[in-house]
Amino acid sequence: MEASSLPSIEGTQTVNISRVYQAAGQAEASEETITGLDAWRSMSPRQQPTYEDADELAAVLERLRSVPPLIFAGEADKLTERIAAASRGEAFVLAGGDCAESFADADADRIRRRVQTVLQMAAVLTYGGSLPVVKIGRMAGQFAKPRSSDTEVREGVELPSYRGDIVNSYEFTPEARRHDPNRLLEAYNISSSTLNLIRAFTTGGFADLRLVHDWNRGFLGSNPNYHRYEQMAREIDRALKFMAACGADFDSLKSVEFFSAHEALLLEYERALTRIDSRTGDPYDVSGHFLWIGERTRQLDSAHVDFLSRVRNPIGVKLGPNATYDDAMALAEKLDPEAEPGRLTFITRMGAEKIREGLPRLLSQIGDQLPHVTWVCDPMHGNTITSNTGYKTRRFEDVMAEVAGFFDAHYDAGTIPGGLHIELTGDDVTEVLGGASEIDDEGLRRRYETLVDPRLNHDQSLEMAFQVAEYLTK
Ligand code: PEP
Ligand code: MN
Repeated sequence: MEASSLPSIEGTQTVNISRVYQAAGQAEASEETITGLDAWRSMSPRQQPTYEDADELAAVLERLRSVPPLIFAGEADKLTERIAAASRGEAFVLAGGDCAESFADADADRIRRRVQTVLQMAAVLTYGGSLPVVKIGRMAGQFAKPRSSDTEVREGVELPSYRGDIVNSYEFTPEARRHDPNRLLEAYNISSSTLNLIRAFTTGGFADLRLVHDWNRGFLGSNPNYHRYEQMAREIDRALKFMAACGADFDSLKSVEFFSAHEALLLEYERALTRIDSRTGDPYDVSGHFLWIGERTRQLDSAHVDFLSRVRNPIGVKLGPNATYDDAMALAEKLDPEAEPGRLTFITRMGAEKIREGLPRLLSQIGDQLPHVTWVCDPMHGNTITSNTGYKTRRFEDVMAEVAGFFDAHYDAGTIPGGLHIELTGDDVTEVLGGASEIDDEGLRRRYETLVDPRLNHDQSLEMAFQVAEYLTK
């Protein structure tokens, strides 16, 4: 693509960037920057959709290249700063949301309950752990899923696998499973309206800490952790009243920072939503604030690693149980050559059984070579099992065992446990076994709704937060 056809990050239409930069007296993105953004094309990217109609795809991508950005470069930079604080132990990252968002679930109530759940967990962690929490939703763009098999067989019928609503539909028919490029545009539009609502919730007064009780409203009072939360909310209330009586100014409580994140899996989509920041001439992927590379696409010569190495957003890489010292060092070198704090987060997802061996080994081999990298725990993806009743699930106790192993490994190594990355929903689903409400194999049937991986429900999410707050004060 030619530099002159790239839109400015601030513009809503295609503009000639040479002219914009000349007018502003600013540096123009170099030819090399622009061509580098397309280097991934020659690297056989894994996990990409296969579209039948190239013209249909081209038309969608052309549209996506000119739509307004979902996030601003300055916001991404702010998140980099916040994550840098977490790498120093001065903040804690909480990233949570669906494994896969669906178009159908992007309604106001469900979005609100997910935001509420993250805010509640953050309140528990901030109050219990005495640390600022960097709030990130796996939301407003988490639509693409890597799959281990290209096809799925049901009762002798073989069809393409479901790859997330941005690619195809879950329904098991040939038409629904077709890879449809128009879904890229739909994903952008739904991300946009989701983010609009999130911005309204988090800046319009709803996230004000003085409403800490209200965030519990609408959830089931019969859930065990609901009451524990109510009690903590009363303590926060008392503390706030005390501070108000002392004359504290609460204006800063009215809004909270809330960032969006998703796996940057579909490179055509991410590339089309990459813009040159008019302040600096640097490229940013404006589809979300934080982007990560999944366990299946993090090979050193991978197209995904190459593409994300060239955008300036804060980024993450998942590290599974087989990640080696060499992998970690090479990924850090490639993705964060300037060793910029906050730029790179390693999201470990080793499984409860392996973390107590795998993570200490990795941390001791790395020693003090990567002090600028932030370490976050994904306790979900290494703990996926199939229940006796046939559901893809996880045991809450395994999830918590991995979290405990993560904290222990970092405390023992003298490194910083910087945050959590989890799959949750604000709904009262029954997808993960155990927790205070003791969901069992049979109980999974009651409300199993996820299209891909099992999510903590509202109560299990709160329970995790209370437990993690204790680890934070260890
Ligand atoms: C995910 O986060 O939903 C995911 C697929 O994770 P991983 O790449 O770690 O398997
Ligand atoms: Mn998942």
